[in-house]
Amino acid sequence: PAPALAPPPPARQALSVKPAIFVPVDRSAEIQEARLKLPILSEEQVIMEAVAENPTVIVCGETGSGKTTQVPQFLYEAGYSSDGLIGITEPRRVAALAMSQRVAKEMSLSQRVVSYQIRYEGSVTEDTQIKFMTDGVLLREIQKDFLLSKYKVVIIDEAHERSVYTDILIGLLSRIVSLRAKKQQPLKLLIMSATLRVEDFTQNSRLFSVPPPVVKVDARQFPVTVHFNKRTPLHDYSGECFRKVCKIHRMLPPGGILVFLTGQAEVHSLCRRLRRAFPCLRGSARGTEVKVDSVEEMRKFKKSRGKKGPVALPRIDLDNYSVLPVDEGDEDRESEMDEEEEAVGSDLDLDLGDGEAEEDEKPDASLPLHVLPLYSLLAPEKQAQVFRSPPEGCRLCVVATNVAETSLTIPGIKYVVDCGKVKKRFYDKVTGVSSFRVTWVSQASADQRAGRAGRTEPGHCYRLYSSAVFSDFEKFSPPEITRRPVEDLVLQMKALNIEKVVNFPFPSPPPMEALVAAEELLTALGALQEPLQTGRLKQLQGAKLSCPISPLGRTMATFPVAPRYAKMLALSQQHECLPYIITIVAAMTIRELFEELDGPAASEQEQAQLKGKKARVSQMQRLWAGQGASLKLGDMMVLLGAVGACEYSGCTPRFCEANGLRYKAMLEVRRLRGQLTTAVTSISEHAAGLFVDPKMKPPNEDQVNFLRQMVLAGLGDHVARRIQSEELLDEKWKNGYKTPLLDDPVFIHPSSVLFKELPEFVVYQEIVETTKMYMRGVSAVEATWIPVLLPSYCHFEKPLEDPPPSYCSKTGRVVCHRASTFYRVGWQLPAVQV
Ligand code: ADP
Ligand code: MG
Repeated sequence: PAPALAPPPPARQALSVKPAIFVPVDRSAEIQEARLKLPILSEEQVIMEAVAENPTVIVCGETGSGKTTQVPQFLYEAGYSSDGLIGITEPRRVAALAMSQRVAKEMSLSQRVVSYQIRYEGSVTEDTQIKFMTDGVLLREIQKDFLLSKYKVVIIDEAHERSVYTDILIGLLSRIVSLRAKKQQPLKLLIMSATLRVEDFTQNSRLFSVPPPVVKVDARQFPVTVHFNKRTPLHDYSGECFRKVCKIHRMLPPGGILVFLTGQAEVHSLCRRLRRAFPCLRGSARGTEVKVDSVEEMRKFKKSRGKKGPVALPRIDLDNYSVLPVDEGDEDRESEMDEEEEAVGSDLDLDLGDGEAEEDEKPDASLPLHVLPLYSLLAPEKQAQVFRSPPEGCRLCVVATNVAETSLTIPGIKYVVDCGKVKKRFYDKVTGVSSFRVTWVSQASADQRAGRAGRTEPGHCYRLYSSAVFSDFEKFSPPEITRRPVEDLVLQMKALNIEKVVNFPFPSPPPMEALVAAEELLTALGALQEPLQTGRLKQLQGAKLSCPISPLGRTMATFPVAPRYAKMLALSQQHECLPYIITIVAAMTIRELFEELDGPAASEQEQAQLKGKKARVSQMQRLWAGQGASLKLGDMMVLLGAVGACEYSGCTPRFCEANGLRYKAMLEVRRLRGQLTTAVTSISEHAAGLFVDPKMKPPNEDQVNFLRQMVLAGLGDHVARRIQSEELLDEKWKNGYKTPLLDDPVFIHPSSVLFKELPEFVVYQEIVETTKMYMRGVSAVEATWIPVLLPSYCHFEKPLEDPPPSYCSKTGRVVCHRASTFYRVGWQLPAVQV
């Protein structure tokens, strides 16, 4: 075995001198005893003195040392919340909720006082003194009140994760703290990190002119013996985890097991296998037969569809976004931290109870194992289970994603099984093309994971990879902000009147290409005022990047969705399209509405089941898409149909299961629809008082065409044109599409209802790279709409005038007629090569 990680530091005395103001807290003896064991208790005085004397303080301490649960209590006891709030931001929803509950419990206070606020819900009241929230919530509060005057202290927790919003918040707060000092209303800023790697905050003179003091909390970490695998399994790390857990459970002394996997689907699958191998007393007969006549539901939905509309396709008005920006609305954003896990797979916790066990161990009821899943999107009640002691005589085994790495500390873990992988979303800097990839973690993460085993006694960490592989891991993973498109952040910053985004004190600035791409997209969407000179790109690359926000941009910034979708929302109150666009945007924002049915199957039987279901689901999707204009709306129509039919059926788990929909995603769509409706109606004169019925009527044909245009207006940089036969350089390009930014062809994803239709022009929600570059979320558009709705993407040789342009499929060009003259209107796609 490799050497142990760290020896336990000596225990120290708890704080003896209390500060001048002291707000008493009533804690149970049991809680008090547990607290006194936390390493951070012996640093209370140091931390509180540092806070008293400095505007900004950094606290570093190992996960589990007590930062999140105790520091807010120290501040409360010292009177910081007697006339203002103590706010704590977390990059994950799970942590905001769980930690507020824990702190309320420790202090014997209700959630009215120690509250939480996450995207859709919260328990904040007038009595709130300590408020846990996601970092996105605080960012939106800054938009409403830049000085954060309600707060006395802001704590940025988990700063080592370097989530995008955490980074932005630290940049903003560095300014807010100095503004508040000038106004003689000091605001205290605490930055808490689980690692000592804080130079990006301390050694950054643009951020803090005087480097803030760092208080280091010595963790009482017991030694953890690290065991590497001799070989690194190439694919089946999940199977390897299973075998390792079985061995530990059979052969090693009592102590909880924590397994790190990469995503929900994997977590559930391993949980199933383990429960079957080591049954624990549980409710029986799970996973009932599901049978729903979804075709009947669909008929009901379709029956209310209107009759055919006129043949001509009227257009939406691009300048008609007369929603007025106001400083209200309780919507917020979430960082990407939660998203990794949402990526793939179903999270229906149905135990199929089939023959998956055959290659596994024989069920062994004499060795019960209490197996619990843990991931971000797990329902809160289920998450809370991991903190309870397992049933008598059972060993605890938590199968988790990255959330267990630093956000949550699970008591009683002695063994860690680390697959060494993490699921991450990768983006192309220029095109924004994204892909989810499972990659190796960094060395820092692997050590964090190992550390989970040594909280209560010496422990063991089993790494399912060799030490040679480990030494090739990168030391730390780069901050998120340097890895993803930033148009949403740039828009938010412009809405805060930070025009020169390049000058913003980012702890780690995003790459210049990403800032330029963001500014370009926002300008094209009309969210920024166009620079006066021409040659926009050159000007932007001259590092100016300083266009102010436009009125449309202000409207867009109030919607809690990405700018492309915000643009659709801003146009949506025309022609009574609002409820539809809200639904489409909500469904596109909540990723992976449909279950993943391509996943690996454990047995042939399961394979066949999956195949059957896939066929049924795709048949259903065809029905939802309908015919004519409605089919042209494509996958967006499927989303509308799915949500509509689901609401008609009462949004039940059975309906979702039968139609391949993720039940939880549907509930999220419902909530987000409500939230977006409030967001739009509260700022729109036209939409004021509008009531959106969750069971909306299907759109009529005219509306469908307006919807297609609204989608096009938002996804303007995501237009693709089918490669024509004379352009085919390669057989592989058959059925491919050309996009302005990519050299290689892209293809309609086989799961799209337009996969076989192959329209000439399409817009897509995203390109995901798997075996090919696939467009997902596809909708067909009319070529003649492009110069009208997306003028900034077109090159006009003469000003565009009526009558409307037409499209010549032979040349692949759009032609504008004026009187008897032809003006050729090129479009940024590569010219046709004959
Ligand atoms: P840090 O923020 O430094 O990682 P925390 O404040 O989250 O540490 O955790 C401190 C201790 O509180 C840990 O030992 C953890 O086990 C315990 N703890 C946290 N939440 C709960 C909970 N809901 N139930 C029981 N113990 C908890
Ligand atoms: Mg913490």
